[in-house]
Amino acid sequence: MKREKCPKCGSGKIMHDVRVIDRDGEYANGTLSVQIERKPGALIFKKAETMELHAHICGDCGYAELYAADPSRLWEAYATSRQPGSIS
Ligand SMILES: [Zn+2]
Repeated sequence: MKREKCPKCGSGKIMHDVRVIDRDGEYANGTLSVQIERKPGALIFKKAETMELHAHICGDCGYAELYAADPSRLWEAYATSRQPGSIS
């Protein structure tokens, strides 16, 4: 749930959809992401769903929450990975 008030201090100064930098090696700054493999047991075609996370940060106390860009797509990948037969 995206909030308009900080759950910690009650401030209304919420910064939405802040990019979270993920330093992968020396040069490139990636965006912090999550990944779910639909078929984790597959040798090659794991059909991974990769999704960026964005932060919502309180401008008073600094409390930060992370949100996936498209949770329904992520859930579909997760549900598929939990189905019987996806192991092999
Ligand atoms: Zn706060």
